[in-house]
Amino acid sequence: MLTMKDIRQEGDPILRMRAKDVELPLSKEDYETLKAMMEYILNSQDDQIAAEFGLRPAVGLAAPQIGVSKKMFCMNAFDEKGEVLHRYAIVNPKILSSSEERCYVPGGEGCLSVDESKNGLVPRAKRIRARILLVDLIKGTSDAVMIKLSGFPAVVFQHEYDHLMGVLFIDKKQAELPDIKPIVFYHEEDIAE
Ligand code: ZN
Repeated sequence: MLTMKDIRQEGDPILRMRAKDVELPLSKEDYETLKAMMEYILNSQDDQIAAEFGLRPAVGLAAPQIGVSKKMFCMNAFDEKGEVLHRYAIVNPKILSSSEERCYVPGGEGCLSVDESKNGLVPRAKRIRARILLVDLIKGTSDAVMIKLSGFPAVVFQHEYDHLMGVLFIDKKQAELPDIKPIVFYHEEDIAE
């Protein structure tokens, strides 16, 4: 299983590379990489497992963060109301459109690859529409689909998508966002991506 020692940290050149498209059909190796990434996220969200193995909690993880420079990421995040779970294993995403309206996570964004002291406010599109290959990690099937996301899941998607472009949230963070409304969470969350 993946642990924090597998997570590449800021300064590692792979985090600054543009990831390559994943060749399709999906290879066994790439499928296993997706499974391992999702497993890290789910383990990190389990208080007991996270404490036992020293896992920093995360709602998303991109392949370059574990040293694989390919366009793949996983996310497991509830919407801000805590109602709808957005659990996706994603390959070769392409954001087709982004709303002009922006938002930010009020507690600041964090990233497993960046020291927690650098968490900060980041302006993001409030809504996005993307084309992805969605992989079912239980059945082992995949489908080319369009997805629309808004609010917190849209932010997580954009954060992970940036990793595939060699971009870290610290490149974009701002101290204050005067004209942008924060996402309103119904429950507090501690978030790293
Ligand atoms: Zn990140």
